[in-house]
Amino acid sequence: MCDSCATAAEATTADGTERGGGLSRRGLMAGLGLGFGLAAVGLPTGATTASAATASAKNGKWANPALGRFPAGGHYGAPRGGAAHAGQDVSNSTGTGVYAAAAGTVVRRSWGGGLTGRTGNALVLSHGGGQYTYYGHLSAYRVALNATVAAGQRIGDMGATGNVTGPHLHFETHSGGLGVTVAPVAFLAARGVDLGGGWPRIDPGASGATVVVTQQLMTQRGYGLVADGQYGTVSSDAVKRFQNAKGLVADGQVGPATWPHLVYTLRQGSGGSHVRALQTALNRRSAGLAVDGTFGAVTTTAVRTYQGVNRLVVDGEAGPVTWQALVG
Ligand SMILES: [Zn+2]
Repeated sequence: MCDSCATAAEATTADGTERGGGLSRRGLMAGLGLGFGLAAVGLPTGATTASAATASAKNGKWANPALGRFPAGGHYGAPRGGAAHAGQDVSNSTGTGVYAAAAGTVVRRSWGGGLTGRTGNALVLSHGGGQYTYYGHLSAYRVALNATVAAGQRIGDMGATGNVTGPHLHFETHSGGLGVTVAPVAFLAARGVDLGGGWPRIDPGASGATVVVTQQLMTQRGYGLVADGQYGTVSSDAVKRFQNAKGLVADGQVGPATWPHLVYTLRQGSGGSHVRALQTALNRRSAGLAVDGTFGAVTTTAVRTYQGVNRLVVDGEAGPVTWQALVG
């Protein structure tokens, strides 16, 4: 974990208060920032379909930024030399892939992101609406300043630059303006992403690549969906029928209960819509494959590369662990 993730001027504690500062503007803003984070739940934050009335923040637009473990003391708000830890640390080895948590623009690519108290090579993405994510202690950058990035795109490599005790990603979420940090685990959970590495949650009204993945998997399951990336009524009704058939709660949410029934274990020689789903999921993580439904040597190499970069067992086979990492 990092010592340096302490941010004497910028950090806030988990409850949004500021140490020793009384009710300063910063403390007040931090409190509001937390409020914004919570208020965002249930509001449409992007393109929606006919189900906008029930739109959820679990809209398929967010992605897990890195696989690893949460080190002791690496949580948001942990004491750091009189300040509070401004992010969540995710530990893994140097070179582990780091991915954009959502679509956005690279607004900082510099030591500590230019923010008070941070050290090491850092990226800051702006996602619009006052939302930012911060990726610290990187060993390498894979995007340029001002670049536009997609959710799940590889943007850097995990490292140990700056004031750290070992390699990890220091990940921050800001809501209500740059510098207004909120708890990353809760922020992502509200958007359907488990920073701890579990299956994502995709609600009706969602859109994007992960929705395409679910539609391609559903087609392989015999539900014949158009892979248009829009999780509207046709797709969600089909998922409810699938859930009923599997004895699951038919809520239309593609979440931890449904994903294990939806994915297939695939290997070289497999072919079909489920392979298209795998190729789409790999492309969301920057694989650059042709989505042709044929699991040949090129797809095998892409699976092995993804597994290697994310410290999974490198067997070239897409089983549940690899699927969970890809779509998370
Ligand atoms: Zn940290």
